[in-house]
Amino acid sequence: MSFIETRGNDGIKPSEVEFSYAILNPSASFGGLYIPKELPNFSQDFISECTKLSYKELAFLILKSFRVDIEDGDLETALNLYDAFDDVNNPSPVVKVKDNLFVNEQYHGPTRAFKDMALQPFGSVLSTIAKKRGENYLILAATSGDTGPAALNTFKNKEGIKVACLYPVGGTSDVQRLQMVTEDGENLKVIGINGDFDDAQNALKSLLASDTFKATLLEKHTKLSAANSVNFGRIIFQIVYHFWSYIELLRQNEIELGEKIYLTVPSGNFGNALGGYYAKKMGLPIEKILITSNANNVLTSWINDGVYDLNDKKLVLTKSPAMDILKSSNIERIMYDMFGSIRTKELMEDLNNKNCFTLTDEEKTKLQSEFSATFSDDAYGLKTIKTYLEDGYLMDPHTATCIKAYETLMEKSLKNVVYSTAEWTKFSPSVLNALRSDEVKYSDKEALEKISSDFNVKVPDMIHGLFDKEIKHTCEINIEDLESEIINFL
Ligand SMILES: *Cc1c(COP(=O)(O)O)cnc(C)c1O
Repeated sequence: MSFIETRGNDGIKPSEVEFSYAILNPSASFGGLYIPKELPNFSQDFISECTKLSYKELAFLILKSFRVDIEDGDLETALNLYDAFDDVNNPSPVVKVKDNLFVNEQYHGPTRAFKDMALQPFGSVLSTIAKKRGENYLILAATSGDTGPAALNTFKNKEGIKVACLYPVGGTSDVQRLQMVTEDGENLKVIGINGDFDDAQNALKSLLASDTFKATLLEKHTKLSAANSVNFGRIIFQIVYHFWSYIELLRQNEIELGEKIYLTVPSGNFGNALGGYYAKKMGLPIEKILITSNANNVLTSWINDGVYDLNDKKLVLTKSPAMDILKSSNIERIMYDMFGSIRTKELMEDLNNKNCFTLTDEEKTKLQSEFSATFSDDAYGLKTIKTYLEDGYLMDPHTATCIKAYETLMEKSLKNVVYSTAEWTKFSPSVLNALRSDEVKYSDKEALEKISSDFNVKVPDMIHGLFDKEIKHTCEINIEDLESEIINFL
């Protein structure tokens, strides 16, 4: 199956490419993204058969259905990385919390956030093809806190790969920062940016599109790619767990084959939600995808009002920092799918030039037939964490935003699978504030210990060990100095 471009073709880049090309060169014509030319379709019978499969087998099947040009053995090697998750048979368990509410816990991998679900196998696939081609790659990763640790973990010491990871100084939790700055590996460079996540992601996108930067890299025999969800290589692995959610509910006898369910996705760059949208188009019985945001609620107005307006919007730092983002990359892939490339190019140009685009009523209606949206502020999130722990379920602040959707957006009485995108251990000071209804400034170490002893929950070793690890990266710079900093590193 081939891949095409969201904003159409410029006559210079190839107009159709294979999977390997799309993941090695994620920037398409006119600054667009790669998308599959068509989606595979799975029948109900097929979904029923999937209940017999392991997570890895399901993932293999879904990747094969996209006819990716990756050898089977290399795919298997990549998928075997799921064996290192907490439960070797179930990397993302679906847990019943109450009534119609289920949680898909996506944080059981090495860096304790859902980014591992895709970045672990993606990193393996990308390094394998780079090695087979004898090519060197610089992988850029911009992070609001979870992509960075996951990308560093997956590419560490990989032959022919170097990683430059950009994070906003002060924009991540302490644990997230430590996960990055203590990561050793000759091939890793961690760079704190004086700015917010949008600044980091904008810098990444302009480097990806810059011919002069690419030419300088080529002098060093190095090519350029990215680990963010602009890369379709991440999205493809993010389709799998939505199928898994459904299959798990079937296995647990919570639904019957064909019964529709809601998915609720705490969203930022919209990669997680996009995976759900593709799963639905591939035949998974999904009623609707419910999207939650925090106080940075551009996605809420995009879906509810058809307006994406960044004028007068300023990013605010919240207790769910992985969703502190205003420019969401993957809505472009949704708009391509619904409105085509000519219109997508027009809308994205409006966003670039006027900081705003507006959908027609017809377009808005179409979008709302697939998605509903709401947002949760920190006060609501903290209250939710406390209430749910009193009933025995501990969740992180990102997961807590989903409860708002569960409580207010469901029009039908169907099962709802909420995505838990991070473990509480990554945001323990906020969680402790929630549990004690106070505003004390706890350190991560203190909060981890208190919650762990008060509520008898375990802190995994990889989090515990962070506080004794040596700091390897101290670089903090302004965006202007990014390019030279990266070149020096190479
Ligand atoms: C990245 C992230 C999100 C947002 O996911 P997108 O795919 O970018 O929408 C939500 N929660 C956590 C904890 C994350 O790390």
